Amino acid sequence: MIRVAIETKLKAYSGQQALRVVREFEAGSIIKIFGPSGSGKTTLLKIIAGFVQPEKGSIVVDGITWLDTHSKISMPPQKRKTGFVFQDYALFPNMTVHEHMTYAASDEAWIGRLLKIGKLETFVAHKPEYLSGGQQQRLAILRALAIKPKLLLMDEPFSALDPKMRSELISDLKLLFTELGTTVLIVSHYPQELEGLTEHELNIH
Ligand code: ADP
Ligand code: MG
Repeated sequence: MIRVAIETKLKAYSGQQALRVVREFEAGSIIKIFGPSGSGKTTLLKIIAGFVQPEKGSIVVDGITWLDTHSKISMPPQKRKTGFVFQDYALFPNMTVHEHMTYAASDEAWIGRLLKIGKLETFVAHKPEYLSGGQQQRLAILRALAIKPKLLLMDEPFSALDPKMRSELISDLKLLFTELGTTVLIVSHYPQELEGLTEHELNIH
């Protein structure tokens, strides 16, 4: 069970906008987060991962307090161990596909399985600049899964994939999430693209 109750001002260019989220997420559930551009979707994921501090609130995961601004508790991101798929991928320019994976994890059998699911087995020696946009995006997803995270945060993770690739990947990921018991929060612009993956949603305005 994940309990999020946070409130913070967003540093918007025009006027003052607040991000306020009070929600519980059941362990193992997959939740789609949507809302207009600039509403704070990326900021929310970064707050949960520990990259951004909100002004007020708390985050409790499986009974462990990750954040409590009142008692000045904030567990560092390394300890929260969330898997994070960044909207702009955040790949390492000088690392090959395989190096991205081994940097995160050492289980070669698991890495091999992920590379197959992401259709990157034949690109292991490639650096990001020699990958297509879709391949880079799939690498960002696989890298986040390499650590077998209990909580996976995905920021518009399928935006560069064509519909066929997207639906194939989604059905494989769904099985993996169940196998790992991973709770997944997915930010998406196009609610239809996640069809079949999730029944839960969080609308932030
Ligand atoms: P979305 O992902 O929904 O498009 P973002 O979370 O990227 O929205 O940004 C929402 C607003 O929050 C933007 O106006 C942005 O300038 C602002 N913002 C970005 N980072 C922070 C931060 N660390 N703290 C507060 N506001 C932020
Ligand atoms: Mg965003």
